[in-house]
Amino acid sequence: MTKESALDTARAQLRRAVEQLHLTENDWQTLSTPRRVLEVAVPLRRDNGKIEVYNGFRVQYSTTRGPAKGGIRYHPSVDMDETIALAMLMTWKCALTNLPYGGAKGGINVDSNSLSESENERLTRRYTSEILPIIGPERDIPAPDVGTDERNMAWIMDTYSVQAGYAVPGVVTGKPIVLGGSLGRASATGDGVAISTREALRIKGIPIAGATVAIQGFGKVGYWAAIAVEKMGMKVVAVSDVTGGITGFENVSQVWDHFRKEGNINVPGCDHLSNDELLHLEVDVLIPAALSDAITSHSANDIKAKIVVEGANAPTTPEGDAILNDKGILVVPDILANSGGVVVSYFEWVQDKQKFFWDLLEVKENLSTIMMKAIKEVEEVSNREKVTWRESAHIIGVGRVAQAHKLRGLYP
Ligand code: GLU
Repeated sequence: MTKESALDTARAQLRRAVEQLHLTENDWQTLSTPRRVLEVAVPLRRDNGKIEVYNGFRVQYSTTRGPAKGGIRYHPSVDMDETIALAMLMTWKCALTNLPYGGAKGGINVDSNSLSESENERLTRRYTSEILPIIGPERDIPAPDVGTDERNMAWIMDTYSVQAGYAVPGVVTGKPIVLGGSLGRASATGDGVAISTREALRIKGIPIAGATVAIQGFGKVGYWAAIAVEKMGMKVVAVSDVTGGITGFENVSQVWDHFRKEGNINVPGCDHLSNDELLHLEVDVLIPAALSDAITSHSANDIKAKIVVEGANAPTTPEGDAILNDKGILVVPDILANSGGVVVSYFEWVQDKQKFFWDLLEVKENLSTIMMKAIKEVEEVSNREKVTWRESAHIIGVGRVAQAHKLRGLYP
């Protein structure tokens, strides 16, 4: 899939929702156009003194229902089209979970693994200063995404706060706890993936205890999803990272302990398998939790899982999606399955605003309430309208944004 098609896919999904909601051509125009896009040059002085210039982006796709909200991605594939597509998905994701946000995404076309700690800090601070005029707790609130983590959020918060003259924790979410981060944010996306998995199994009538799960990706989403589904009684049979996968381990902690010590998941005594082999395992649940375009027209045919839970954003191409649907596989779409991250980001922002912090139990309970409500709504609309869960999730998310547009009216 070419880079343009990430945007094509997102637009095609929107088009379908607009039709299913019987919206007008004017609605389509409004909904398919990003509210604000910014491209900036991000020069970086490398540790060896050389200067490199990267491209930075921030797209505020929608601000109709509240401040723009979404992650910042450091990856070589980042460009304007991909950022618009992901910002569009954030918009429907926030509306689906009924958070008082619009949607946004940002990023830099850089390989985060190629950066030393100090290069990463310089790059992040420079990028922040370039997008500074359009972010803020009431305007647009960044968060971690692929290739960024709580360190980046701390630097963004500091750069913004230095300019403001006082600490502004609410300008980003996914911060370290001591800077106003929320308990439970680190595991939130994985926790939400696990809740979605459990509910999908229930709906399919598959016993949760002992249900087999294969997870592609062992990062911020995949690792926590693995821990959470295991806690619920499922059996994680395979995990992978960029270098490939393994199977035959005792439990997720065994893989994690090895990863912490050795920096890889190749636990001695376990069988290796390729990322493709992992996708095609005979399991109850497959969780793609890495990058986009994992499930394509090539890889979808041999998928044997009964349920696919999209931990990553846009892991399935439209062709791959059609094949999964034909095979009767239940696909829990990204904007539902991985929404736990932004839901707890919302809790973090609320806590920062109130300057009053919740305990972990409160975070987990509130996350569960919001996710369960969204899952139930998606299931209901899917049954009522006879559409897939992806279409249903879009109908709900897009519908809410369209309604908000209508009620606000057009200025002037
Ligand atoms: N990057 C995450 C996502 O794609 C989280 C965004 C946020 O917390 O704002 O949903």
